[in-house]
Amino acid sequence: MVDVVTNLEKIKRNISEACGRSNRRSDELTIIGVTKYVTIERTVEAIEAGIENIGENRNEGFLEKYSEIGTKAKWHFIGSLQSRKVKDIIDKIDVLHSLDRLSLAKEINKRASNQVDCFIQVNVSGEESKHGLAPEEVMPFIENLTTYEKVHIIGLMTMAPHIDDEEKIRSVFRRLAELRDSIQSKNYDHAPCSFLSMGMSNDYEIAIEEGATHIRIGSNLVGN
Ligand SMILES: *Cc1c(COP(=O)(O)O)cnc(C)c1O
Repeated sequence: MVDVVTNLEKIKRNISEACGRSNRRSDELTIIGVTKYVTIERTVEAIEAGIENIGENRNEGFLEKYSEIGTKAKWHFIGSLQSRKVKDIIDKIDVLHSLDRLSLAKEINKRASNQVDCFIQVNVSGEESKHGLAPEEVMPFIENLTTYEKVHIIGLMTMAPHIDDEEKIRSVFRRLAELRDSIQSKNYDHAPCSFLSMGMSNDYEIAIEEGATHIRIGSNLVGN
């Protein structure tokens, strides 16, 4: 296996080139190291390489790693979350990337001790296999969240389709950025919605060019 330091150097070079092309600063970007495929040892290696933010998509995998690593990392829950499992993880995670329904917001509000930073997951591409709200559902959803004071909407998250057509991928990211802009302009107290969680191993450079603030990288960072 290639060491994480080497993988990270390559990713950082690509990030800085994508930032150069789009007039952005790489320090505006948060790299989330997605460790769902790998061991605790490899996760620790990523943290020692300088990754401060770790993403997991299943309760079991998250809890196993959290029990070893604890608050030495910031924890991002990026998978779909069943309401009945909220209580197991909600006070341990730092950010939830997959808020997609009111019943989940209600459960978070009931179980969390403190306010929880959440991204709303949006299914921009409309693929049936993907979770998330349709773009036109997002604004009414946010307006319905005002009663859940523990739910704090910091941004929008999406996954682009896994295809080679760069322009199609780009249009998905662009649409999410436009939606973010329109929500942000409403200045909601409970939903500042300033961030964009988009871009994975195969498309993070396009996502950066389209305004991503949080990129979620698994295989290119801890795989190979
Ligand atoms: C697995 C996963 C990633 C990382 O995917 P890679 O292609 O391995 O970089 C990012 N986001 C979500 C939601 C994931 O489930």
